[in-house]
Amino acid sequence: MPSPGGLVSALTSILQNRKGLWIGWPGTTDHEEPPSTYEGIRLKAIAINHEEYEEFYLGFSNATLWPLYHDAIRSPTFHRKWWHTYRDVNMRFAQAIAESVAPGGTVWIHDYQLQLVPQMLRQLRPDVVIGFFCHIPFPPSELFMQLPWRREILTGLLGADLIGFQLHAGASNFSRLARKLTGASGTDSGLNFEGRAIRVGAFPISVDCDQIVKMAADPAIRARAREIREGLGNPEFLMLGVDRLDYTKGIQQRIKAVAEMLADGTLSAERQVMVQVAVPSRESDAHYEQERHELERVISGVNGDYGLVGHPAIHYLHKNLPFDELIALYLAADIMLVTPFRDGMNLVAKEYVMCRSDLTGKLILSEFAGAAAELRGAFMVNPHDLDGIKEAILLAMNAGPKETRDRMARMRRATFRRDVYDWAKGFLVALQQTSRKGEPAASS
Ligand code: UDP
Repeated sequence: MPSPGGLVSALTSILQNRKGLWIGWPGTTDHEEPPSTYEGIRLKAIAINHEEYEEFYLGFSNATLWPLYHDAIRSPTFHRKWWHTYRDVNMRFAQAIAESVAPGGTVWIHDYQLQLVPQMLRQLRPDVVIGFFCHIPFPPSELFMQLPWRREILTGLLGADLIGFQLHAGASNFSRLARKLTGASGTDSGLNFEGRAIRVGAFPISVDCDQIVKMAADPAIRARAREIREGLGNPEFLMLGVDRLDYTKGIQQRIKAVAEMLADGTLSAERQVMVQVAVPSRESDAHYEQERHELERVISGVNGDYGLVGHPAIHYLHKNLPFDELIALYLAADIMLVTPFRDGMNLVAKEYVMCRSDLTGKLILSEFAGAAAELRGAFMVNPHDLDGIKEAILLAMNAGPKETRDRMARMRRATFRRDVYDWAKGFLVALQQTSRKGEPAASS
């Protein structure tokens, strides 16, 4: 079953209204029969065998594209065999879509694992309207040019009528590369390629604002938030980090900043407590295994050095929490630390903001998270700058009620402006407009 969250809810409601079909990989390689419906929508499962899981998913998607698209924080690995499997699996998706979609129907393809599908599908079914959305950053030329299959990926994406990114930077990186390498002409927002007009744009994703506001007002969840604080010894300040355990999230860096503040006496384990949730992720990948070992070594070192009996400095959870427990944690936390080295959007930051109806709570946010473009009221940091993170923690701790309220109100206004349903509707409306226009976009 898909993991519940704003994105799944938004796409589910759209598919319910349009009687659409959801095609995807069920997330396992075992032979269990996948379900054929979810909340009244039809599902079509694409099988991936163990070798494809290793080469398409862990390999090309997560060890080639993921690091390359996230500033090459880890060196991307390039293997021709992985590329071939990526192409094969993309073709399997394209064929499954081609067999299922109604004449002239609309197809919305999601994310970096399926970048070849738009072009493959266009060749199989020129009648359909194709949208593509990239949930992760799209890198600048300096990085993308490393990819041995750079032209193929760009051409794959150019099969779509509308190509969406989280930020304008991603859209313009893509458009520039397409003009440089594929013979496409046009501007950052409109390209002509092989006689077709393609629109390129930014569609920043969001959360289900109403649902989160409602949950954050729920007396049971609020009671749980108080219980969490009591369990931690009612600290003066509760700092919280919630991330997938991924090397892009900058978790170690933020723990090191907190450790230095404990070392110089700015923080004390009794009065200022940190909770770090690290959700298990891609555990069969060596980079991720290494990241977990290093993170756990750093955290236990900090607790050994600065913790007291009954007062560890950092409370560490390596698990996926249910959403209501997460909301309780957001409510309990005085400071939320979101410090990725690079992140497509970062929904955790928006979820935290949506929980703080009383305009309390401070967000420390990396300027390299997509969310930084909207959440201007955050305490912004360069996540590579340890002193900068320490300064931001200090500033956040010392910010008075008025400043805190002003900053939070500004971030809430920005988040309310467009929730995940508006995001999905906005993309689909733009897709229909693009496909109707037909005429080539203006050339630059
Ligand atoms: N999340 C969750 N349980 C947890 C931790 C996180 O359900 O224990 C959810 C969280 O609510 C958010 C998502 O996981 O919606 C993480 O999205 P984000 O954009 O922050 O990062 P990503 O994991 O996509 O890189």
